Amino acid sequence: RGTDAEPTIPFAQASSLTKVFAIASGKGGVGKSSVTANLAVAMAADGLRVGVVDADIYGFSIPRMLGVDRPPTKVDDMLLPPVAHDVKVVSIGMFVPPGQPVVWRGPMLHRALQQFLADVFWGDLDVLLLDLPPGTGDIAISVAQLLPGSQIVVVTTPQDAAAEVAERAGSVAVQTRQQVVGVIENMSWLEQSDGTRLELFGSGGGARVARRLTELTGGDVPVLGQIPLDVALREGGDVGSPVVLSDPQSPAALALTRIARSL
Ligand code: ADP
Repeated sequence: RGTDAEPTIPFAQASSLTKVFAIASGKGGVGKSSVTANLAVAMAADGLRVGVVDADIYGFSIPRMLGVDRPPTKVDDMLLPPVAHDVKVVSIGMFVPPGQPVVWRGPMLHRALQQFLADVFWGDLDVLLLDLPPGTGDIAISVAQLLPGSQIVVVTTPQDAAAEVAERAGSVAVQTRQQVVGVIENMSWLEQSDGTRLELFGSGGGARVARRLTELTGGDVPVLGQIPLDVALREGGDVGSPVVLSDPQSPAALALTRIARSL
């Protein structure tokens, strides 16, 4: 008896028309999940068919940000993903009992991701976004193996320390031969009531990561956009109503919508 065949991942087929973006960051707390959730919702609002895989094992927050409170439903051998704001969503958080820490090792993570991609009924998608765990871990490598055509988007803050680790996360793409589409700088400034910009976390991190990744990958890695600090973004994420929908004219929403249309 031979070994079981590898499950087929529709997005990995050469004929697949789905654009796959893996959203990466060097460390946690820079807004990677907020960016993923908002890009997804903005694209769906523009009429694209969008799916999100929350692969941030250690800090899954996509279900809350999108206001999804139920796991996929099982139909025969497939899982039907819940839909929020016209986005199909699957998160590792839907498969662990609430309040329990996730202590999984690499091979289990790889299998979980494989299942998310192969056993979930996504239907035809224009875009699939993957929210990666921060850093340069197993999941980033698994994504590259399972979805060789996936492209990387790096999220960083303007701060030097964040930019340094973001460069490292982005440079995984050199080893895995993935394309880095660009860098998103989040928390770039806080607009004050007099209209001036307070650069709370310094400046230049996004440009620096883009420059470095351009050198490392030999491709053109642009800064896709800068997103200001914005209370509306945080509030929207907390209540499952992403800012691009709940407050589309807010500074963060305008920046995110512009970035979504550039991808
Ligand atoms: P990560 O996925 O990188 O760990 P999150 O997206 O979970 O980061 O963001 C961390 C926290 O910072 C969340 O509470 C989120 O609402 C908040 N946040 C992220 N970006 C912004 C922003 N531009 N303005 C205000 N709050 C933000």
